[in-house]
Amino acid sequence: MTARPTALFQTDSFRDSRPLVVGPDQPESPFPVLLSGSVQRGFGRGGKDLNCPTANLPDEAIEAISSVAQPGVYYGYAQVPDAPSNEVWPMVMSLGWNPFYKNERLTAEIHVMHEYTADFYGMELRAVVLGYIRPELDFTTMEALIETIETDKRVALNSLDREAYKTFATHPHFVLKE
Ligand code: ADP
Ligand code: MG
Repeated sequence: MTARPTALFQTDSFRDSRPLVVGPDQPESPFPVLLSGSVQRGFGRGGKDLNCPTANLPDEAIEAISSVAQPGVYYGYAQVPDAPSNEVWPMVMSLGWNPFYKNERLTAEIHVMHEYTADFYGMELRAVVLGYIRPELDFTTMEALIETIETDKRVALNSLDREAYKTFATHPHFVLKE
């Protein structure tokens, strides 16, 4: 993926008209997309401050999604098999151009919708991406960014709460736990 897309919508108008469930009743091509890799350190730019820590996948793990999907925000399930809470949880993922690299490099960052008791840098993260939520947006205020992220999480939970999506929580890509 070489071209750098621009944000497709003005944030305010997009925010006012967001559907709370997105995607078809069952995942459609290219989904499910299976991702895995060891969690990398990011630049600590605000993830936790925004109530939304995002675990970075390593560069080599990103192609599985960047070769079939545009930058944007996605939903699915994720698991950190070696963490104390090693279950499969809903997740939201941002696939985006990283300003730190002058927007020449894509990053995939996953927020797992679970409160972990400790960080899991270096541990393996597994994810099944099931659908697309929205394009990358430009934000003018921190409040707008936070509100949008909170809506993304609700949209992800609502969208996963359908039978054809729920079954992916036990997909063989995840490590079976008792
Ligand atoms: P960084 O810039 O290093 O990605 P963040 O503020 O985004 O920093 O925090 C991400 C880190 O927080 C992850 O790498 C992981 O170790 C930890 N973490 C704790 N809880 C979560 C969670 N629910 N989802 C994702 N990462 C989490
Ligand atoms: Mg992060």
